[in-house]
Amino acid sequence: MYPSRFRYEAPRSLDEAISVLHDGGDYAKVLAGGQSLVPLMKLRFASPQLVVDINNVPGLSYHRAGPDGTLRIGALCRHAELERSGLLKTTQPTMAAAAPLIADPIVRNRGTLVGSLCHADPQGDWASVVLALGGSVVARGPRGTRTIPLAGFVTGPFQNVLEPDEIAVEAVIPAAQGARSGGYLKLERRVGDFATVGVAVALETSGGKVIRAGIALTGVGGFTIGATEAAQALTGQPLTAETIEQAAELAAQAARPRTDHRGSAEYKRQQASPGLKISGKAFGMGRRFPIAAKIEG
Ligand SMILES: Cc1cc2nc3c(=O)[nH]c(=O)nc-3n(C[C@H](O)[C@H](O)[C@H](O)COP(=O)(O)OP(=O)(O)OC[C@H]3O[C@@H](n4cnc5c(N)ncnc54)[C@H](O)[C@@H]3O)c2cc1C
Repeated sequence: MYPSRFRYEAPRSLDEAISVLHDGGDYAKVLAGGQSLVPLMKLRFASPQLVVDINNVPGLSYHRAGPDGTLRIGALCRHAELERSGLLKTTQPTMAAAAPLIADPIVRNRGTLVGSLCHADPQGDWASVVLALGGSVVARGPRGTRTIPLAGFVTGPFQNVLEPDEIAVEAVIPAAQGARSGGYLKLERRVGDFATVGVAVALETSGGKVIRAGIALTGVGGFTIGATEAAQALTGQPLTAETIEQAAELAAQAARPRTDHRGSAEYKRQQASPGLKISGKAFGMGRRFPIAAKIEG
């Protein structure tokens, strides 16, 4: 199917892009990688009157860590760059684990992490990862710049708090206070599919105890689920079989899965139970989950 008729603008600066969006009113859409927006337009699930392509805006393709370790990912940083990133491999285990699991290589070459957060698909993998890491989105619009924690950014399926004339310019992952560990595991029917269930675990440890924990679930509710009680159960505790088991149980309880073509609600809830390798170095889903067995094996 072809999209509905729309006006296309490709501004060459952020200010121009914001101004064009502002004039476009409620019926304008930002185009980043186009890997979600274009299919939606072709299916006519989205029919914007104006598409503002930000790919000509310079200086948005970065991902870099500041002197204190804060990681910033620009709005045009592609999934593939994150997949190949040495910085992520050495400093961001949860992100490094997720990057190769997003879609397929063709989608990863164009799609962006920030676009994925904005798209707010309950099946989106990056939202769980960024939520588990306590990250936020920086938005810029005619009224200035604001930073929105991811926990308050997504308001429902395919909905976020951005105003129609705001652009998400970057995602920010705060610096770790302790030794960072974690991972992302995704149960998918076949390589390249959206998650049946995904679990992101991001821990910081110091002195043999967890000083910060984030756990988030993909594909088991109408939006990305932060398993806050599970994370709290680990915080201040050493990683033992008991604390891990308790967190796993609480994470499964936080899931709100529905039966669909990817599996029954009960099956998905079982898979949403994060199990961890006791060494604290590798994290994944429960023992029933085959990938966890592979990691632990
Ligand atoms: C075949 C296929 C398989 C996929 N599989 C997966 C998968 O397994 N896991 C997964 O997580 N994703 C998957 N995706 C989605 C993919 O990751 C997209 O790249 C991502 O969801 C959106 O990023 P994008 O840059 O392409 O955004 P776009 O498609 O350009 O935009 C998506 C939405 O976000 C808005 N938007 C984008 N950037 C901004 C911005 N900077 N400021 C404000 N609004 C913005 C757009 O207006 C639009 O509403 C898949 C896509 C396809 C086509």
